[in-house]
Amino acid sequence: MTERTFSIIKPDATARNLTGKINAVIEDAGLRIVAQRRIRMTRTQAEKFYEVHKERPFYGELVDFMTSGPVVVQVLEGDGAVAKYREVMGATNPEQAAAGTIRKLFAVNVGENSVHGSDSADNAKLEIAQFFTDADIAG
Ligand code: UDP
Ligand code: MG
Repeated sequence: MTERTFSIIKPDATARNLTGKINAVIEDAGLRIVAQRRIRMTRTQAEKFYEVHKERPFYGELVDFMTSGPVVVQVLEGDGAVAKYREVMGATNPEQAAAGTIRKLFAVNVGENSVHGSDSADNAKLEIAQFFTDADIAG
């Protein structure tokens, strides 16, 4: 089933000029980038985006990191896009990520792990709506 997921290329990756290389991995996996914008996330945006992790010990660091430099927010489309992108990203901790995944190829550590991807279709809709309107998405 064709669906959409939400992706972020994180500050550690934009700092190292890896947007194109990461997009190549995404496209080689059969996912289509149907919307994309490079932004500086505000603290309010990052706190809202990661609200589910508010009680976790890494929350403050995560918000600091996500606002430390530019990010690229994206909408990806494809067959089973949510699960497929989780596979393409690899495990949260790059030490546990499979060969060929974005995190294995590019992540620095468990925090600075280069990309975000939605973990469910419902969350994908909410996350896309935080950064894009329907008119932004070309399909
Ligand atoms: N994170 C962290 N330390 C941890 C776990 C997660 O700094 O021990 C950060 C990391 O950037 C991760 C994000 O918090 O991508 C969200 O965590 P989650 O468990 O949702 O991982 P993801 O869905 O990104 O794989
Ligand atoms: Mg997550």
